[in-house]
Order: sequence, then C-alpha cells, then structure tokens
Amino acid sequence: RGLSKTFVVGKTIRPGSGRKLRAVEDVDLLVQRGETLGLVGESGSGKSTLGRCLTRLYDITAGELRFDGVDIAKAGSRALLPVRRRVQMIFQDPSASLNPRRRVRDILGEVLAVHRIRPRAEIGDRLGELMDLVGLRREYLDRYPHEFSGGQRQRIGIARALAVEPDLIVADEPVSALDVSVQAQVVNLFADLRERLGLTYVFIAHDLAVVRQVSTRVAVMYLGSIVEVGDTDAVYAAPMHPYTKALISAIPRPRAAGEPRRRILLEGEIPSPLDPPRGCKFSTRCPVAVDRCRAERPVLRPMPDGRSVACHLAPEATRAMG
Ligand code: SF4
Ligand code: MG
Repeated sequence: RGLSKTFVVGKTIRPGSGRKLRAVEDVDLLVQRGETLGLVGESGSGKSTLGRCLTRLYDITAGELRFDGVDIAKAGSRALLPVRRRVQMIFQDPSASLNPRRRVRDILGEVLAVHRIRPRAEIGDRLGELMDLVGLRREYLDRYPHEFSGGQRQRIGIARALAVEPDLIVADEPVSALDVSVQAQVVNLFADLRERLGLTYVFIAHDLAVVRQVSTRVAVMYLGSIVEVGDTDAVYAAPMHPYTKALISAIPRPRAAGEPRRRILLEGEIPSPLDPPRGCKFSTRCPVAVDRCRAERPVLRPMPDGRSVACHLAPEATRAMG
C-alpha cells in the first residue's frame, strides 16, 4: 500500500542537492496466493524496481509491504531472514547468480546447506528431485554453468530458487533472453511448477503475449504508477485505460484478408521520470486527454467488472480510440 521507491540521482557532497527519481510511486497492489500476477509496461516503467521492492532487494522509501499480514517494508536483515526463504527472485540472466567455477551440484547444495532446508543426509536426494522438477537430467549436476544452453541455464536458475522451497517467486523477464521456441517451454515449466508446488508468481515482462499466456491477473505500469489491474482475459479483451489499449493494440495477431491493422501509435516518448507530467502522467501521450487530465492526477478506481483503472474518463475512455 502506498509503496514508493525514490532514487536520488546526481547527488553531490552537499546534502539535499540531488534530484529525485520516483521510480515507483504510491503503488497499491494485492498478490493473491496461488495466482500469477503479470506486471507489464515499457522499459523504464518501474516494473523491475517494483519487483526488487517486493523481494526487499531494494529498500523501500515509503509505504507498506505486507507479507502474510506482516509489514516488512522497514524490516532489518534479521527480521527478513525467514521472508528471504519464502520469497525468491528469478532474473533474465541466470548466469549472474550462478558461479561459473562451481558445478551445479555445489551451487544448489550450498543453498540447501545455508538455509538448512533438509538434513545433510537428504541433500543428495533433494538435488536429484530439484533437477527432476525443472526437467533436467540428474547427470547434469556434475556440469558447470557454461556447459548449458540459455534455456537450460534458466532451468538451473529456477532450481536454485526452488531449493529453498519458496511460496512466492518474483520473476523479472525470465524468458526475454531466450529463443522463442525455448521461451514457450520455460513458460510451460513455470505453469507446471505453480500447479505442482502451489507457488505464487509475480511475472514481470514487456512481452504482452507471454504475460497473457502465464497470468491470471495483470497489472499495467506507466512511469512508476499502476494504471490498470484486473483479470487477464478481461483486460486484454477490453482494456479500459488508454495506455493499456495502446499497448495491447501493438501485439501482432492474425487478421482476416483486407482487415485493417488496428495499431494505436502513441505520440512522443515516455517522459523522464525525473520530470513527470503534472496531473495524469499519461496526459502528454493520451489521445483522449481533457483539461482535467493535465490538472489532477487520477487514482486507481474500481470498475463495474472488478478491475481497477487510474483514468478520469474510465470506463468510457477507450471507447473513442477505435
Ligand atoms: Fe488519458 Fe486523462 Fe485518462 Fe490520463 S486521465 S489516461 S490523460 S483520459
Ligand atoms: Mg526491467
């Protein structure tokens, strides 16, 4: 609730002289147990920063972060220890978290030993189980990270996250670096693991087609704010925020012969988060903006179908966009 993350940039020796970059601003978001919440938006929208706040890899500037009802926004490293076990993060490039000089057996074994998840005598069995879970042969435990393909390395990254038996996984662009054919396999693995292990995901991606495939609900970010959040099918079928509508219109899809391409092209670049527009942050690019939009910042409001939209003109706003 009200979660914000501000970076001070261009800080000099003089205190208070830096400029504030509000990477995540006043975000209210609920992640329900067992769901996959997709988090989408262009690069620079703050979705990775929000992910790193959810896992407390970043300190949080303001607001609450409740995990099982306990506010951990300001928790110190000691209080965070049990949370770190239950919340794991997976990154686009798993290599960063896989020591190139160690075999997979040692990489995964170390995680099990540090967190004392299983008695020492069971570690060998557990390593085999982890490989089975992510669809890799047990013999591969004796290989080094560089001996794998990108997709296999991401499977090892997933095994590493699963080793601590987490409840929540925040995955930041976990398939973006992979070939399209491999992407589908890893996306299926995520879905399969959710069912088998009862996991909850926050799945961050700029690829809306991938997010549609994996998510039960979706949240759309623009310049550090959530502009629309709701059931994936409903949001994709009939977006209510003009920005969501433009994003979804850009997804390539098959068309009938002679059917025009209905892509909505937004004017202008994303404004700098150092100097966001007054009022609605999307007002400088919104095709249906009115005077009120430039004066007053919209907040997320519940819509009749249960989703929430931050737009003064919702749910009518997108009707005029074609
Ligand atoms: Fe567009 Fe106004 Fe809605 Fe913002 S509040 S998305 S500018 S119509
Ligand atoms: Mg990112």
